Amino acid sequence: MTFRTRFAPSPTGPLHLGHAYSAIVAHDMARAAGGEFLLRMEDTDLQRAKPEWDAAVIEDLSWIGLSWDGPILRQSEHLNGYNKYLETFESMGLLYPCSCSRSDIRAALAAPQEGVAHDVYPGTCKGRPMESRKPGDALRLHLDRALARLSGQSVAFEETGEAHRGTHHLDPQRALQEIGDVVLCRKGEEIIAYFLASALDDVHQGITHVVRGEDLFDFTQLQVLLLTLLDLPVPVYHHHRLIRDEAGKRLAKRDDARAISKYRAEGATPQDIRRMVGLV
Ligand code: GLU
Repeated sequence: MTFRTRFAPSPTGPLHLGHAYSAIVAHDMARAAGGEFLLRMEDTDLQRAKPEWDAAVIEDLSWIGLSWDGPILRQSEHLNGYNKYLETFESMGLLYPCSCSRSDIRAALAAPQEGVAHDVYPGTCKGRPMESRKPGDALRLHLDRALARLSGQSVAFEETGEAHRGTHHLDPQRALQEIGDVVLCRKGEEIIAYFLASALDDVHQGITHVVRGEDLFDFTQLQVLLLTLLDLPVPVYHHHRLIRDEAGKRLAKRDDARAISKYRAEGATPQDIRRMVGLV
């Protein structure tokens, strides 16, 4: 199998040094292995993703000296393709409609659930059958049923990144406490959750090694669970260190001060960028 990595930015703002590091690591790993490096725009958020940011990603990566193989996959052009996987989950009886707003969820989580990770859904709509779905409802994964369905089957992935190197197995009890019934299809529009779209496209694009920042490590077991439920192959994951600011905070899209385009405008070279992220 061809060793294949990818860079999968959301074109919702300027690429900063953290993105540059991620793209270079994924690119260099693929090239060193004689493999392929793919580019995917994760632009399912139709409100925030903009063509000008998409163009800026291409310009920045090209300027850094990265080249990618094959056409760029834009998720916004494949939104219908994701629905068939939602239908599969539905036919397995693993979905239920949910009309809770974020504030309903926060209120339900308040006192009794203290100590539980903030975004674990308290299950308000859990008993609802799919037939009760109303326009605007989200669809949630019934995690207990999903786990029951997999009983006996291992949900595992191989991690090659330094901080978590080794084989990781899903712990059902922890999954119930830490993941809960996630939204797979967002409310309002028929838009798939980004962690599902991303995992599906990794399979679709034949990615053998998912190279990305440490901040996404916690999503991995959920993504692997979803792929296993769908009987899809699970890639190897490689979570790399994050590029942090002087205060130790990871860079975010709003950190325009560290935007690659800004360094470029100030006369930096691609080699300077590699040096700034500790790659030379
Ligand atoms: N689109 C995600 C982001 O820009 C990355 C997802 C991934 O690499 O798996 O943060």
